[in-house]
Amino acid sequence: MPDIDDSDEFGAADLAAHAHARLAAWWAAEARDLPWRFGRATPWGVLVSEVMSQQTQMSRVVPYWEAWMEAWPDAAALAGASTAEVITAWGRLGYPRRALRLQECARVVAERYGGRLPNDYDALVALPGVGDYTASAVISFAYGGRIPVVDTNVRRVLSRVFLGVESRGGAASARERRLAADVLPEDGPEDGPGGGAGDGGGSGSREAPSVVWNQAVMELGAVVCTAKAPLCGRCPLADVCRFAAAGLPGLGERRTRPRQRFQGTDRQVRGIVLDALRHAPAGATLPRGRVEALWPDRAQLDACIASLDEDGLLCIEPGGGLRLPA
Ligand code: SF4
Repeated sequence: MPDIDDSDEFGAADLAAHAHARLAAWWAAEARDLPWRFGRATPWGVLVSEVMSQQTQMSRVVPYWEAWMEAWPDAAALAGASTAEVITAWGRLGYPRRALRLQECARVVAERYGGRLPNDYDALVALPGVGDYTASAVISFAYGGRIPVVDTNVRRVLSRVFLGVESRGGAASARERRLAADVLPEDGPEDGPGGGAGDGGGSGSREAPSVVWNQAVMELGAVVCTAKAPLCGRCPLADVCRFAAAGLPGLGERRTRPRQRFQGTDRQVRGIVLDALRHAPAGATLPRGRVEALWPDRAQLDACIASLDEDGLLCIEPGGGLRLPA
């Protein structure tokens, strides 16, 4: 195994091999049965699940994902939807610009790739709204490619288990990325990406060790090794975890500021305005009087409406009424 730290006396190869076996067994027994897992979703469906799960808990995403995939099962279908339909279907998932970016992505996939989601990193990361994390997740989870998938949960788990310290938020450090690459299991020759079912050529290698590892580490971070209250007593890595052995030093410390309270924020006001529009009859304009009744602070309300307009999430009529974009 390559070095994890220059001063490494980690015995990291043994630790990683042990962690691979433990987590694979745990994943087989404990993985949540989410509808886009276990080869049941197309690569496009996996991409939609990843976009929806950014900043929203996976368990909350399930009903939205199911309704969305029923309405628009592939990129071509989503590309043809109206903006109003897309914003309405996004519902209360939050950060609704993600919905518009997803539709832009669908249009590019439909036009440039004939509706088939590409399976190489450079092409994926060039799509609207697709960053390093989402591209890596699609390559691993949908196509079975061997690539580290690094999100907040993964960073937290790997840092705790292998380095014995808290990952402190902010952007992923070079050390964290190197660690994720170094501890990624090797796959067998039969495990690489290839042709198969699905809308972009799924690989049939979703059981590859690297894919199982990526999913299992992420899952462990979501349900066991949580940020503030890790359930070490239920953790399959408890006997080898360096953070647990050290007594959880600095548990929950973060470099970034704590999240802003939701109550009274612009995010809340934007959500209230969009919610009112989603519940208006299709194509209808919400009159100015009803708009003003949505929030008592007129200046904040108008600023939020302006920002929603800028984001392309609503249209302002001449009299100040609002409607969803066509
Ligand atoms: S033992 Fe505790 S801190 Fe270590 S990985 Fe498991 S839950 Fe996280």
